[in-house]
Amino acid sequence: MKETKKFETESKQLLSLMINSIYSNNEIFLRELISNASDAIDKYHYLSLTDSEHHPLRNHEIYIALDKKKRTISISDNGIGMDKKDLENNLGTIAKSGSKEFIKKLKENKDDINIIGQFGVGFYSAFMVANKIEVLTKKEGGNAYLFTSNGEDSYTIEDAEKAEGGTTITIYLKKNKDEVEYDKYLEEYEISSLVKKYSDYIRYPITMEVTKSKPKLDKDGKEIEGKTEEYKEKETLNSMIPLWKKNKADVSEEELNNFYKEKFNDYEDPLLSLFVKVDGTITYDSLLYIPSHQPYNLYSDSYEKGLQLYSKGIFIKDKAAELIPDYLKFVKGLVDSPDFNLNISREILQVTPMMKKVSENIEKKVIGKLKEVKDNEFEKYLKFWEAFGEHIKFGIYQSYGFKKDLLQDLLIFKSFKDENNKYISLKEYIDNKEKDQKYIYYASGENVEAIKNLPQMEKYKAKGIDVLLLDQKIDEFAIQMLREYDKTEFKNISDDSTNDVSEEEKNKIEEITSTNKRLLDNLKEGLKDNVTDVVISSKLVDSPVCLSTKDGLSLEMEKTLNEQPGLKEDIKAQKVLEINPNHPIFTALSSIQDNDEEVKEYASLLYDEALILEGREISDRGEFVKKLNNLFSKAISK
Ligand code: ADP
Repeated sequence: MKETKKFETESKQLLSLMINSIYSNNEIFLRELISNASDAIDKYHYLSLTDSEHHPLRNHEIYIALDKKKRTISISDNGIGMDKKDLENNLGTIAKSGSKEFIKKLKENKDDINIIGQFGVGFYSAFMVANKIEVLTKKEGGNAYLFTSNGEDSYTIEDAEKAEGGTTITIYLKKNKDEVEYDKYLEEYEISSLVKKYSDYIRYPITMEVTKSKPKLDKDGKEIEGKTEEYKEKETLNSMIPLWKKNKADVSEEELNNFYKEKFNDYEDPLLSLFVKVDGTITYDSLLYIPSHQPYNLYSDSYEKGLQLYSKGIFIKDKAAELIPDYLKFVKGLVDSPDFNLNISREILQVTPMMKKVSENIEKKVIGKLKEVKDNEFEKYLKFWEAFGEHIKFGIYQSYGFKKDLLQDLLIFKSFKDENNKYISLKEYIDNKEKDQKYIYYASGENVEAIKNLPQMEKYKAKGIDVLLLDQKIDEFAIQMLREYDKTEFKNISDDSTNDVSEEEKNKIEEITSTNKRLLDNLKEGLKDNVTDVVISSKLVDSPVCLSTKDGLSLEMEKTLNEQPGLKEDIKAQKVLEINPNHPIFTALSSIQDNDEEVKEYASLLYDEALILEGREISDRGEFVKKLNNLFSKAISK
């Protein structure tokens, strides 16, 4: 029976793009199909080792056949194969996340066909060179099916015959058109050099009948001089050494990058690649990569962390989460170790002490590499930091500071003192601070501008003291886990205890406090629902008021915590209203401090003003405006 089905919308978009593509680097189709074949063999091979009763061992091979007359290239594998449902789900739908991203990017840069080459676009990329594709496939013990499509809006699936389990993909090449030549893909030489270029490390033999010539013999078996005859011989085109099994020195950066792009479906080179070979109490080879941009779904539940797991070159599991800590979930790569036990289920891989060791080891290698980049290639490090810095801070927070020593030197924060607010490390902060400065100061807020506008910053600006500008939600939580760096404590400038003032200033503030006791008490009374205290400030220069907090829970943290879903009750920071004793408003208030009711009314205006300066919402705008208007009329009529 032959069934006709429609491609899903996204697939249709991608297909129409592929079939109409005149992209000159269309050769990547071969790499994509071979990579699919190799994955399919990986899957079968694993089953033959773990469930041999239903999956007899096979001699694996990827076989390429060219037919100049029919203008076809076929690529056969004896891997896992597909049943009818698989065909619909895998080929009727875009499977690869990279392809979805590609469609998105393409919509953004409509005319830039060159971006095709940056993407692994999988099976569909074959439509760059084909006007029809057939997929003949069979699963071990199942029926065979033939999938056919010309890359337009539908495909057909019908019952078929196939002796061995596996898949043969046959592509019918387009005719040469204008500048673009497709015929070359029918040449043995072209195909074998493409295999060498892109698929050399594939661990299964990629074979093809290759034309050779030998001297022609006469009927007595003697060579006829000057005459040769052609014959065909099957040849293996690739070297079959997995990239990670090669010597470090023999692998170029470009090879590492190409491998990454193909294996992990990225369209950009990785930011960093790391080739690790460990031979000791544990033995493993590992290739690790840090992407140059955030995966599109990094923050969604659909993102799965983990490294590919191999044992003696045999693929075991795609995303072994156990091999990488949560905070490094953006790291991609693979680990191959003879010490991994193959008979463990792919789904419920046990975390053995050995795996734990490997994981710890990998963590150290990645962090070590990042430190190196930070010290030697700061521009590159900034790129990393913009994309993944948040995760390093998360690592500190999530481990309750346990990973402090490992991670603290990776931290960089924007500097208030620097004109362009460039990033500095904690060490740089310490090296450049004033000799008698007791603390590492920081301030937090929505963004750098908002933080710089905090009234509390005025004093630091006037005195030329640097303050770290913390503009990410996780920042303060991480800093609180660190507590100190190089024996110097961190201090939020909005913390109510942050008062490094001289003895003389301190006495002055105490004096002002006692002469204005009635004023402060009245303000406190007027704000009793909002603040725990009202105090004379030593932090302000130009602004009349600011809000600080007690007990280490800052306003920013309050906001972040209250954004968490499922909270029963709002979390409240202990707020303190600080007043600038040198501001005319204070002088005016001081002069009417006996008028209890009037002072109480002004209290809420001051509090709202402080909220606005903090970039916060005030609770009742109507009330605020009314009070302000009252004040205006009084002032004007005077
Ligand atoms: P990706 O390989 O990234 O998933 P593709 O579009 O290249 O994206 O392939 C889609 C899916 O089709 C694959 O994930 C795989 O399940 C299936 N597939 C493709 N080629 C083969 C093959 N030769 N044998 C078995 N399954 C295949």
